[in-house]
Amino acid sequence: MIPTAVPNVGPQEEANLRECIASTMVSTAGPFVTDFERGIAQISETPDAVSTSSGTCALHAALMQCGVGYGDLVIVPSLTFIASANAVSHTGAQPWLFECSAESWTLDLAVLSEELERNTYRDAQGLCRHRPSDKIVRAVLPVMTMGLSLDLDDLHDVVAPYGLSIVVDAAAAIGVRPGGKALGTAPVDAICYSFNGNKTITCGGGGAIVSPKQNFLDGLRHLTTTARNGPNYDHDIVGYNYRMTNLNAAVGLAQLDRLPEFLATKIRIAAHYNELAAQYDMLGPFPEREDKASTYWFSGFYYIGDDRAVADAFRAHMRTRDIDLREFWKPLHMQQPYSDVPHTEMPVTDDIWWRIFPLPCSTNLTADELATVTKAVHDFWSAV
Ligand SMILES: *Cc1c(COP(=O)(O)O)cnc(C)c1O
Repeated sequence: MIPTAVPNVGPQEEANLRECIASTMVSTAGPFVTDFERGIAQISETPDAVSTSSGTCALHAALMQCGVGYGDLVIVPSLTFIASANAVSHTGAQPWLFECSAESWTLDLAVLSEELERNTYRDAQGLCRHRPSDKIVRAVLPVMTMGLSLDLDDLHDVVAPYGLSIVVDAAAAIGVRPGGKALGTAPVDAICYSFNGNKTITCGGGGAIVSPKQNFLDGLRHLTTTARNGPNYDHDIVGYNYRMTNLNAAVGLAQLDRLPEFLATKIRIAAHYNELAAQYDMLGPFPEREDKASTYWFSGFYYIGDDRAVADAFRAHMRTRDIDLREFWKPLHMQQPYSDVPHTEMPVTDDIWWRIFPLPCSTNLTADELATVTKAVHDFWSAV
């Protein structure tokens, strides 16, 4: 089976892991952790980075550091991986699920602006409250779907009058430079990455948080490392053990060196699928921006026709050719744990998610494999 996105690891990852074993530095501190964090901060142009054991942990800790807690609401696009909303739930808050834009497959800023205007008010203390439930809306969690950047300056302008924190789910967007600028220069509170095995670079498992604000990062460091003060067992808040191990960072550091090469490969694969899609009236390309700011984490195309059975038949056809093709993220308002949370109308989200075909895009995809995928695509779409 040709997979959608799998790790591309090699001799440097192996050498780094051997170094961990030889030095016995295999646990939650060590030189690879320090160097990996420095590398992530450099790419993001932030003063520091806090590594974590997963992207979900990164999101959870960042939300907590923004003061999100029990009874609050956090705005989350419905079209995302469920971890974005789970991180909100882990704080005791609930997601307020939002419609996506057909142009970006993430938060629609026009809808966001309109909903905030219509469905929230400022209470006596100046807090933003959701009119129907009276809950405090603390933050917005935009998602860089497929690694496509959204305009964080524009988002900031929309939410700033409401006093909301911004925690960016950039799980798939390490290295993206909207408007030519590093993510860490954006007017946001936190940017969270994932280094799960299906992401552009992997630590095996892991995540990281960057922020333009040093004091925010200092607080996060404390929160994610059991909130310990000094060498003794003195803890001042309920902290988390969310640290990355030196083993994971050893893999991650080797991967970081290869990020430019991986990003170039992803662009090349995406361009190939765009060309394929252009040959069929029934297929459209994944969203792109004018400045091309995307990591092209996932690439493929989407179905334009009206017959859902055709989309399902294409998925089944690809699997008979030993190519992994599954549905893309099922929107969260359709998922059992989130069927009861507040949500906007979802005409775009309801219409788009089942049309999306994420095709094989691993950075170690061979020319033969890409040719196999291409032939299978032509065989199906030239016959419908
Ligand atoms: C992968 C991913 C996450 C979660 O990261 P983990 O490291 O798997 O916990 C969160 N959000 C999005 C959009 C992702 O793609």
